[in-house]
Amino acid sequence: MMLICFGTRPEYIKIKPLLKVFDGNIDYTLLFTGQHTDLLKNIPANTRRLKITDGPNRLDSIVQSILNKEELFEEITSILVQGDTTSVFSLALAAFHRRIKVIHLEAGLRTYDKWNPYPEEFNRQAVSRIADIHLCPTSLAAENLRKEGIVNNVFISGNTVLDNIRDIPVKYEDIVVVTMHRRENHHWIEQWFREINILAEKNPSLQFVLPIHPNPNVRKHREILTNVKVVNPLEYNRFIELLAKAKFVITDSGGIQEETSFFFKKCIVCRKATERSEGLGVFSFLCETPSQLGAIFNAVNSDHVPAGVCPYGDGFAAESILEYLREQGF
Ligand code: UDP
Repeated sequence: MMLICFGTRPEYIKIKPLLKVFDGNIDYTLLFTGQHTDLLKNIPANTRRLKITDGPNRLDSIVQSILNKEELFEEITSILVQGDTTSVFSLALAAFHRRIKVIHLEAGLRTYDKWNPYPEEFNRQAVSRIADIHLCPTSLAAENLRKEGIVNNVFISGNTVLDNIRDIPVKYEDIVVVTMHRRENHHWIEQWFREINILAEKNPSLQFVLPIHPNPNVRKHREILTNVKVVNPLEYNRFIELLAKAKFVITDSGGIQEETSFFFKKCIVCRKATERSEGLGVFSFLCETPSQLGAIFNAVNSDHVPAGVCPYGDGFAAESILEYLREQGF
């Protein structure tokens, strides 16, 4: 029996297409680790649930809440984890301690800067050391693994996130979608919000919409955004509808870089580094500091349609992963 695990909104979004194709083909049971409880509402009823206990250090608490949970692994012969959160790292480690096979979905993403993104860059590198099967979204991700000496059981599938959105019609309306929540941005989120608010004031023909993340380090600055339509986090289908009609996007998210490329839209990435470098210069534009945002915004606004092919896949990743895993005896 395979244990398929998720702990956050993006993890669930990216495993959902797999669940659809695994049904009736691969025996699995689902585990929700509870890393994000407020952003994940509609998860399957039969999902097993863990509770992350509180402690002075949140990342320590996640690791501690996952290790030594013998009952999670009864009758489990393999686990599938997605991405790079601390719960993914902890689950892979716990499986390794029990000699259980680890399948890593979205393997091989790298910035090689352990502080950007933090703590994800460390987590994904560590999971690659443990994993038995590496499902890479792109050839660049597989190449990263090859350079690290990982050459066996590496499969390039495209990113499963795109399977969710392959039938959505795309438009370009005068909407700029903004999301921001990453830990590395918390210390200067006030400055990002001020720049975004100035841009919204200077560009009244564009509607800026920002679904605000529940993290208190983000929420406490929402009053700065007087010219922006600030809304609560949107349920996935509604967020995708909004993204599909946006002119372009400003974000520090990882998954949104993939979704915007698939929708043939540009995206300004408010980060020091991105592990999705395949789209840089065509679909995505790195903005390392708030003071750079104005100039990058103007350039993207005056030429908003990217000229290129989405580098993250074709929207049929789940089918190819099922076929590959069947060949591997699952
Ligand atoms: N998303 C959503 N509702 C929102 C904002 C984002 O469903 O209000 C989705 C979005 O489509 C993407 C994912 O959440 O698939 C991105 O999540 P996040 O930015 O938290 O994580 P990351 O991709 O950086 O790991």
